[in-house]
Amino acid sequence: MQAGLPSAIAELSQLVRIPSVSWAAFDDQHVADSAEAVEKLVRELGVFDHVEVSRATVDGSDALGKPAVLATRAARNGKPTILLYAHHDVQPQGSDDDWDSPPFEPTLRGDRLYGRGAADDKAGVMAHIAAIRALVEVVGDDFELGLALFIEGEEEAGSLSFKNFLVKHQEQLRSDVIVVADSDNWDIDTPALTVALRGNVAFQLEVRTLAHASHSGMFGGAAPDAMLAAVKLLATLHDEDGAVAVAGLTAQDMETPEFSEEELRRDAGLLEGVSPIGRGSILSRLWAQPAITVTGIDAPTVANASNTLLPVVRVRISVRVAPGQSAADARAAIERHLTENAPFGAHIAFSAYEMGDPFLVDTTGWAVAEAKTAMADAWGVPAVETGIGGSIPFIADLVEQFPQAQILVTGVEDPDTRAHSPNESLHLGVFHRAILTEAVLLARLNER
Ligand SMILES: [Zn+2]
Repeated sequence: MQAGLPSAIAELSQLVRIPSVSWAAFDDQHVADSAEAVEKLVRELGVFDHVEVSRATVDGSDALGKPAVLATRAARNGKPTILLYAHHDVQPQGSDDDWDSPPFEPTLRGDRLYGRGAADDKAGVMAHIAAIRALVEVVGDDFELGLALFIEGEEEAGSLSFKNFLVKHQEQLRSDVIVVADSDNWDIDTPALTVALRGNVAFQLEVRTLAHASHSGMFGGAAPDAMLAAVKLLATLHDEDGAVAVAGLTAQDMETPEFSEEELRRDAGLLEGVSPIGRGSILSRLWAQPAITVTGIDAPTVANASNTLLPVVRVRISVRVAPGQSAADARAAIERHLTENAPFGAHIAFSAYEMGDPFLVDTTGWAVAEAKTAMADAWGVPAVETGIGGSIPFIADLVEQFPQAQILVTGVEDPDTRAHSPNESLHLGVFHRAILTEAVLLARLNER
């Protein structure tokens, strides 16, 4: 099976030249141009019954989201339908000075193609297109597999119209298997299937102890200030090992690949003598266990500190929720913990919630087996099942809208891709193998 690599790289390069940054402050026209360019490539495949550029309204507003490309082809003779997802918008490039070559001028150096979106996720877009082309070369264009293609235009801007898009096009997007090509591989030689993503619950905690500020010399030692209450309360969130100590936050049992403390020290930049926190294998701490981080505290700056008992302190807390627990459940657990442990009867309040559910693939499904077989065929080595400590929020929306579909999170990235950062790049060997994998998967599903 041929991957059609040279033309896929040429077309990818054309897409990278369109600076389709989806953030509100950037010119919408580029995202529209990029949708149009993708639509053209999809039409040229000649296998879809229907191709359109579509926009849905942003959740809770009349505003329209960014243009997405949607294409469908009905299944025949009881064959499954597979939905291929990727996104054609990109992150801002940041300062051009930080790039070794211009961000929107695709540049080949060694085995890698550099440029904003060269990997995340225009390579995902092209992997789908090139895989369909490869399928047609092998089985012709009269295949019976059902196909849907959904190339989003605002993933990097929070997928604000995503939910509404799924509802609007529910019938067209309905499928047995969904491939989300927007993740990572273990390394350039080893494919990965992402089977677990942590969810998140971020919120503001307000701690109040006094009706007004007072002189710390007059009342310090008898009147509890809000900072004392806040730091004592925050200290209850972790135990002596730095593991999360909140009853009701659960962990997932998950086999994790080998990843040493040394690798953690290097990748996360732990200082000499500083020990890791938590228990269990390093990757289980990152993928399968909850984590709590205080990400901000509103308090006087050191330069502005006066001898005052603070009446109120506001804290931003970020909880990473382990796969297997809902964000709502985790929220209830952390609220209960903070309420029960507030020292000195301090008044506490919660607000400004941001929540996303975790994601856990049922790896016993037939689609996972087919995907792993296809990966092993195309890469020559078995796939690693991986988790991600962060979230891909829209995946929870997919699960909610299409609970019966099996979701496969694949990708074109590798550990050196630097998505979202200067000098983002795609490894062309990985790209080749990703296209082959998907072509093999499509061919196998067409045989089912
Ligand atoms: Zn992405």
